[in-house]
Amino acid sequence: MPELPEVQTVVSQIAEKLKGKQVKGLWSDWQKRIHPSFPIFVKRVKGSHILGTRRFGKHIVIDFDNEYSIVVHLKMTGHFLIKNKTNRNSKAFTEDPVNRYIHHILTFIDDTTLEFSDMRKFGWMQVVETRVVEDLPSIASLGVDALSERFTVSSLQKIIEKRKKKTIGEVLLEQNVIAGIGNIYRSEALFLAHILPWRLTETLSLDEQKELVSAVKKVLRQALRLGGMSDGDFRDTDGKEGRFQETRYVYGRADDSCKKCGTIIVRKKLGQRSAFFCPQCQH
Ligand SMILES: [Zn+2]
Repeated sequence: MPELPEVQTVVSQIAEKLKGKQVKGLWSDWQKRIHPSFPIFVKRVKGSHILGTRRFGKHIVIDFDNEYSIVVHLKMTGHFLIKNKTNRNSKAFTEDPVNRYIHHILTFIDDTTLEFSDMRKFGWMQVVETRVVEDLPSIASLGVDALSERFTVSSLQKIIEKRKKKTIGEVLLEQNVIAGIGNIYRSEALFLAHILPWRLTETLSLDEQKELVSAVKKVLRQALRLGGMSDGDFRDTDGKEGRFQETRYVYGRADDSCKKCGTIIVRKKLGQRSAFFCPQCQH
């Protein structure tokens, strides 16, 4: 599932490539994921120009000049492709199977298209008035953004104070506590901070909390620089893979050896998801 770095990559690329463009229409063969309905969606965005984009946790927001916005969640396998006359037939779009599950296409007056490829079809798009974007339940309930300046050691302390008997691995995934981290980056951040995922939060020393906050930011910034991670379905708007997987330490590396100490990396269920860790480097 796309996490903060993947979603931010998409948000930045949409702003860069589509700002100012005027919407011509929308095509969809999976209208049940267009909210509140396909006809209303088309009516609200048609003819309007893109002002810019924003990110809230893993939500993408595209703002238009008619006081409406589109809110998008990519869910498990969704990603956006931006096509124009020059790149429409590029190999990334035509030969990579992951880029061929196009279910929604937003078209622009200049024949550029914003195409939503989504194999599992769980991703959704919703049109709302711009002024209520931050009041939507799934956005209003988000915790502190993992990359924002507000995510500090003192905010982590407050979070832990209310969740003493929970594991740090589970707390990192709670979007209403810390927004933007998923399975990939919690394993990577805990590795960098030398902390085992099932440690109860109340057992973390102040030094460990400091290390964790800086590890979260470090790993997310690095992933952002590398265009995210694509061991699965994620692609950027050019249909290309991110490169974070080349530099990862633990996520998806069970049974391989640790890049720092050579010990075999272990995968273990923690709640609903798998956590990956090095039993030697993490305590
Ligand atoms: Zn190790």
